[in-house]
Amino acid sequence: MADVVTCSACGKRNRLPTSAKGLPRCAACHVSLPWLVEADEKTFAAAVSTSVPVLVDLWAPWCGPCKTIAPGVVRAANEFAGRLKVVKVNVDVAPGVSAKFGVQGIPTLLVLRDGKPIARQVGALPADRLTAWVRGAIEERS
Ligand SMILES: [Zn+2]
Repeated sequence: MADVVTCSACGKRNRLPTSAKGLPRCAACHVSLPWLVEADEKTFAAAVSTSVPVLVDLWAPWCGPCKTIAPGVVRAANEFAGRLKVVKVNVDVAPGVSAKFGVQGIPTLLVLRDGKPIARQVGALPADRLTAWVRGAIEERS
């Protein structure tokens, strides 16, 4: 599965891999692209195996607060392009991922570094607080 993202600098549409060794860059102008992908139980390990911290968004289609925070998650992907990968996991299709991290309720956001959780946020929060929380998590430990 590959997502397509439009480069905010030059407008070129780029295909985005679920997992890759390096960071995704625009094929035309080479700026870092926001890296937001969806993963399931099969692809999760590869998706979070990357050199940058990973924001994991555990959500489900029936979860209202999950929809509320979705724009904030997209904003974090854009704001921290080149420094953060965002992996969205639908817990209905990937219950094993929530079990792995002991997640009791959604929305739950995790920041992983080298596959291990370094920060956890349970429940909805506004986009500005969400991005501030992500910034704190990824800058504190780097
Ligand atoms: Zn570009």
